[in-house]
Amino acid sequence: MSLSTFRVIILGAPGSGKGTIASRICKTFQLNHIISGDILRKEQQNQSELGKKLAEYIKSGALVPDDIMIRIMGNEMKNVGNKWLLDGFPRTYPQADKLHKEVGMVDSVVNLDIPFDVIRKRLEGRFIHAPSGRTYNLEFNPPKVSGKDDITGEPIERRADDEPEVVMARLKTYKERTEPLLDYYRKAGVLKEFQGTESNVIWPFVKEYLEQFISQLDKQPKRKTA
Ligand code: ATP
Ligand code: MG
Repeated sequence: MSLSTFRVIILGAPGSGKGTIASRICKTFQLNHIISGDILRKEQQNQSELGKKLAEYIKSGALVPDDIMIRIMGNEMKNVGNKWLLDGFPRTYPQADKLHKEVGMVDSVVNLDIPFDVIRKRLEGRFIHAPSGRTYNLEFNPPKVSGKDDITGEPIERRADDEPEVVMARLKTYKERTEPLLDYYRKAGVLKEFQGTESNVIWPFVKEYLEQFISQLDKQPKRKTA
């Protein structure tokens, strides 16, 4: 693949399998995977003033305020080049607007449209190895040894924000703040939606779509980049 620039956003409710699909996209198409949630969790682990503030929002399932979020992501994206996938950002209109002002319209927005009851069940079974961000699901992707990370053997844990009441709050926030972005990207002509319940079933369609998309781009050498 001779592509020098390819910029993708993945959208979907919390627990929709964004992380799984995003990792596969990034591996297959050699994109930088930029994960807002991981960046925030790392900042939290630093025990900085900012980290403590972030912890309060995240624990309650609320969004981090746009000004803070935009500053953190702006820093993060200074050195990522022109081949990336954003996972978890933007999540609100002001964030999308800022991103557009900074880099222009992205090439493609992949939305995962997964039924809410499937999502709720999934998040209840999710456990993570916090230092690496590796995720497990007790139902369909359990660790080899119960309660332990496959690679390091360290304990895995449920994220505080995966507790059932917090999950409900996150889904509500998603509906109110993030879902409207679908319209924004649809109008811009870059949105592609995928329905389903299982990442393994959805993935081949995503891959096929992006392969075709890229082969089209390759035929337009004068594509404008920011
Ligand atoms: P999943 O990991 O299943 O995709 P999620 O998308 O809700 O679930 P993360 O992306 O890991 O979870 O984000 C965790 C928390 O970090 C969010 O609930 C929110 O508080 C905060 N956060 C992450 N990205 C943003 C953002 N772009 N704007 C505001 N807050 C954010
Ligand atoms: Mg995530």
